[in-house]
Amino acid sequence: MNHTSLHARWAGPIVIIGFGSVGSGLLPLILRHVACDHAKITVISPDAMHRDIAADRGVEFRKLALTPDNYRSILSPLLTGDAPAFVVNVSVDVSSRDVALLCREFGALYIDTVSEPWAGFYTDARLSAAERSNYALREQMLSLRDAFAGGPTAVMTCGANPGMVSWLTKQALINLARDTGGAVNSAPRRREDWAQLALRLGVKGIHIAERDTQHSMIAKRAGRFVNTWSVEGFVAEAVQPAELGWGTHEKELPEDGRVHDFGCGAAIYLNRRGAATKVRTWTPQAGPMHGFLITHSESISIADYLTVREGGRVVYRPTCHYAYHPCDLAVISLHEMAGHEWRAPSDWTILSAEEISDGADELGVLLYGHKRNAYWYGSRLSIEETRRLAPYQNATGLQVTSAIIAGMVWAIENPEMGLVEADDLDFERCLEIQRPYLGSLVGEYTAWTPVEGRNTLFSERVDFDDPWQFGNVIVS
Ligand code: NAD
Repeated sequence: MNHTSLHARWAGPIVIIGFGSVGSGLLPLILRHVACDHAKITVISPDAMHRDIAADRGVEFRKLALTPDNYRSILSPLLTGDAPAFVVNVSVDVSSRDVALLCREFGALYIDTVSEPWAGFYTDARLSAAERSNYALREQMLSLRDAFAGGPTAVMTCGANPGMVSWLTKQALINLARDTGGAVNSAPRRREDWAQLALRLGVKGIHIAERDTQHSMIAKRAGRFVNTWSVEGFVAEAVQPAELGWGTHEKELPEDGRVHDFGCGAAIYLNRRGAATKVRTWTPQAGPMHGFLITHSESISIADYLTVREGGRVVYRPTCHYAYHPCDLAVISLHEMAGHEWRAPSDWTILSAEEISDGADELGVLLYGHKRNAYWYGSRLSIEETRRLAPYQNATGLQVTSAIIAGMVWAIENPEMGLVEADDLDFERCLEIQRPYLGSLVGEYTAWTPVEGRNTLFSERVDFDDPWQFGNVIVS
């Protein structure tokens, strides 16, 4: 299998909602890996920046914005025909929940990369921090599970992260079992068995540890927000409360930590923005670094998935959260945004593959607190390799679009699974499909812990007895 292999056939319509950095990179990959009729594909986006990428491939482009008032009337005719449709929601500001429900009505398959609400949700001051959390958005989606049961497959939150990192976590657990003398004969099939494996290996927690070193020679204008993927998407999650799956090894709740009084109970939130919250983490190339504790649904879903209960009582759960060092220009952009009390920027750009001179996106999972201390497993994809593999995207984009392709192929192969998260998919099949696009798949152990170099020039409260306490990880 390589990056030109055909993986699936799709006879019905395909509707792509949103055609920004992800959508425009995704379309050529769908045409490469899924045999389909170009004339049955429709792209919907209010901005026509990448319109030619669709037009050049005989794909219809509709320049319009979906809203709560018009989405039914616009989408419904596109979901009818001789064969079921497939809707790919890679937009901002379009409700995942409402579109997924419409797909179910029409027997259409559905996939998205984030549980997106309609416009205005993230900055609605009438909502409490808990209500603006990804925990709440995820619970809202999960509440539809029964309604979807046995119905068309709807894959929630399946990009790189959330998405691929759930598959990497499973492979990392297997690798860790192998390297610590307790190899598993075959990968567990049931959720409970994965949770038992994580418990047996003594994994205290998991960072989704990412360092993006993609760099551009183009000077950043003051006030312009620069990123390697959606600025609107990043800015939205940056101002949501910091959130993390809350592990059973943790001794005390952070000072501004809050628990939810509804839902699965797998996560907590901090009463402050994720982009204003730094955590200590590690990736192989960067070594120790500070990342932002940006909220993401995988922090909650992975912690939830790996929870062990006995008689209804939680006896094991790993802590799990994102620790994101975006590209350097995005770090400066965030700093400027913070200075404006987090006002969303009016001027922004997403770096294209051509605008990036060098660098790579190192995105993986750091499993910590076990016999060998910490193990990072993930993708290191350079911009040079990305350019060779696929058009119209940088390394960050390709990690995302290839995960969507994996999720789409899995959905086509499993069309009646109802509502699922990336954690529920066949991780081996998904990684097999995605592998040609991941650059180097790196697995590396480290002796680093978040107490290294601490409490020297200034006195700090550090728990040296239990280095992987969240209190040591957070930069206070
Ligand atoms: P982008 O900002 O480049 O593009 C967003 C697209 O949505 C644009 O084409 C925009 O015109 C369109 N859009 C905005 N309002 C719309 C509306 N009302 N109706 C229809 N389309 C609308 O974003 P991107 O980088 O392409 O990311 C797309 C989505 O994927 C975002 O939600 C982002 O958060 C998510 N994402 C997820 C991952 C992951 O790994 N899970 C990674 C990157 C991006």
